[in-house]
Amino acid sequence: MRILPAKSFSTKREEDYGTPEQNRVVKEIIERVRTEGDQALFYYTEQHDRVKPDKLRLEEAEIQAAYEQVDEPFLQAIREAAANIRAFHEKQKRNSWMDPQPDGSLLGQVIRPLKRVGLYVPGGKAAYPSSVLMNAIPAMVAGVPEVVMVTPPATAGQPGINPYILVAAAEVGITEIYGVGGAQAVAALAYGTESIPAVDKIVGPGNIYVALAKRYVFGAVDIDSIAGPSEIVVLADSSADPAYVAADLLSQAEHDEMASAVLVTPSAELAEQVRREVSRQLAELPRKAIAQRSLDDYGAILTVDSLEEGIEVVNRLAPEHLELLLEEPFRYLGAIENAGAIFLGEYSSEPVGDYFAGPNHILPTNGTARFSSPLNVDDFLKKSSVIYYSRQALLENGRKIITLAQHEGLQGHARAIEVRLEKELEKEENR
Ligand code: NAD
Repeated sequence: MRILPAKSFSTKREEDYGTPEQNRVVKEIIERVRTEGDQALFYYTEQHDRVKPDKLRLEEAEIQAAYEQVDEPFLQAIREAAANIRAFHEKQKRNSWMDPQPDGSLLGQVIRPLKRVGLYVPGGKAAYPSSVLMNAIPAMVAGVPEVVMVTPPATAGQPGINPYILVAAAEVGITEIYGVGGAQAVAALAYGTESIPAVDKIVGPGNIYVALAKRYVFGAVDIDSIAGPSEIVVLADSSADPAYVAADLLSQAEHDEMASAVLVTPSAELAEQVRREVSRQLAELPRKAIAQRSLDDYGAILTVDSLEEGIEVVNRLAPEHLELLLEEPFRYLGAIENAGAIFLGEYSSEPVGDYFAGPNHILPTNGTARFSSPLNVDDFLKKSSVIYYSRQALLENGRKIITLAQHEGLQGHARAIEVRLEKELEKEENR
């Protein structure tokens, strides 16, 4: 790993908007699904997944059969993780409110869940049952009555949906599952087909075809963010164990060649120890080739003059994951302005949050922690404002509303108030 001064380093990457050909393909898929429905889904499934299903929705028995293919420790672990994730997200719930005013008016906000949400679960190269939990549980806690899942019907040309994905879905109560993937699945969720009723929001990661399709259908439906490659920044002082720092950097670097793992430290000694430790641990990592590319292209050990400067660097990078491996991590928590998830102390390694502790692992990447948040219950809620104006309030404020409307040149708006004020005046005169 390179040891660099912090000043010029940036983890920001160009967003991936696909090649012109990928964009053309995705637009064509969306248009055909929109106009031809199921027929287009079967066509593209045969074309891209190399399987010829006779139906799209899985039977309950097919989902239950997956339980026979998963091991007991997995089942136990996923159940406990789901309970932790549920408990954490329960705390994010909030209530509708009504605020009575002294003049008899009532102002408020009604909060309701979205009605139907579609979860995309990738199925190409690897299976991520933890992503099923992280996407579905906040929706369930928000009270979304219909959470449905789409996932490719084959992995690397082999027919069938990964049983761990199916068990994770069943464990969180998803019963409506469709074996369809790629841009065609996103289009089906957005516009609906004979077999797949349209949803209000699509969440979940996927390859470039899935990401482009989500960008195109946004507006017809809501989408979550388009997640970029994973990132970690470790801010460590001389109290940190170099073996822990190196292991945590590698845990992100192994995700993807474009993942970014960065150490920020005021300790030149730790910087050198971590550099050696990363080389040693990398040699033993099964995903060594991926991690090596990631570290060469997007990783670095950044040296700073002080922890205060380190904090400035962290806030500038706005990482998806931040570890504070410091002697007094809580002392610096308040100074962190931009980070998706903050892990404090040597026992809070990043995978603790990826899988089990409870907070969501779908986090803002590519510097977007400056303005956005982890996936949460609010992402599955919508709000309606409630306005009840009393007679007294309208009489008191009507002229001000008319003034504002007239300044915008909207005479119709002004008249809607005037007509009421005039009538109330008439009523008063006749009394
Ligand atoms: P996927 O389900 O996203 O994509 C598979 C589908 O892509 C297929 O069903 C097929 O319909 C379509 N497709 C493949 N080749 C095509 C082509 N030439 N033309 C049109 N459509 C085509 O699964 P994947 O490919 O394994 O990708 C998963 C992605 O999700 C990876 O990039 C992975 O890094 C990412 N991921 C991200 C997170 C996260 O939290 N950020 C988590 C899990 C996975």
